[in-house]
Amino acid sequence: MKRILTREPILAANDAAARAVRERLGAAGIFAVNLIGSPGSGKTTLLEATVGVLPGVRMGIIEGDLATDRDARRLAALGVPAVQLNTGSGCHLDAAMVLGALERLPLVELELLFIENVGNLVCPAAFDLGEAAKAVVLSVAEGEDKPEKYAPTFLRAQAVVVTKADLAPHVGVDPHRLAASARAINPALVSFVVSARSGEGLDDWRGWLAAKGVE
Ligand code: MG
Ligand code: ZN
Repeated sequence: MKRILTREPILAANDAAARAVRERLGAAGIFAVNLIGSPGSGKTTLLEATVGVLPGVRMGIIEGDLATDRDARRLAALGVPAVQLNTGSGCHLDAAMVLGALERLPLVELELLFIENVGNLVCPAAFDLGEAAKAVVLSVAEGEDKPEKYAPTFLRAQAVVVTKADLAPHVGVDPHRLAASARAINPALVSFVVSARSGEGLDDWRGWLAAKGVE
């Protein structure tokens, strides 16, 4: 039986665009993080909190959503150059979209770029965006079984950020166990337990970014 190879040309084209993104970011000395997580996992709120704890870092943000520029406006309100990408019905960002968005950012002024992917724990992980690291954002309300159920995303990531730790008592999930369940899938993951509301864990998250040379 013949295999159907429809995905390969799409991914090959994506990889070419991802190489171009990586070259441009490398030339500009920018460390880029691709944030992947479900809708409502707290990606944008984590970015707002990150801006707050890295006041001296020249950060840019690319926001991916099916529709609206709400998230880019939230970050722009904090003084961060932010570009909104709308995918219509598309469930992930691809590298060509990111390459286009780079044209709208002041790259020479930046040292750190966050790319907030479309809210989705499945296919964003398959599309290299030219980032230096993928970070999965997973809120305590999502449950301890998610890393096992969505393993490919966790296997491709370098970090997992467990968000909304302040909600843990209300949802009956231990955020550190949730982090451990992600590390059980991928032992190489660096994990963080944070609350944007209380500030818990943001120092560790900032330290990881700083260790990447962005502070
Ligand atoms: Mg968002
Ligand atoms: Zn998709």
